[in-house]
Amino acid sequence: MALPKEDSKKILSPELAFCPGESELELYLLYPEFKLADSRKIKNHLENCKICQDRLEQLKGFYKLLEHEFSCPIPHEVYEMAKKLINL
Ligand SMILES: [Zn+2]
Repeated sequence: MALPKEDSKKILSPELAFCPGESELELYLLYPEFKLADSRKIKNHLENCKICQDRLEQLKGFYKLLEHEFSCPIPHEVYEMAKKLINL
């Protein structure tokens, strides 16, 4: 059952055919020097994959938000609520 969509994937090099996993993308964002070969592979992939470009942007946004959150004191109510949620 080969769909035309699948056929077009075959002409791509292997690094473009497979999207990096969430943790790989995260590693790439946080430690671009980590395992250089992998970083290069992901960088090549990102240049050609709109989906992963968006995923990376989302990750960046998340970390920016996280950074901001860490710089603010956490209200006591929020801390208590988080503790309850973790204990569920
Ligand atoms: Zn991708």
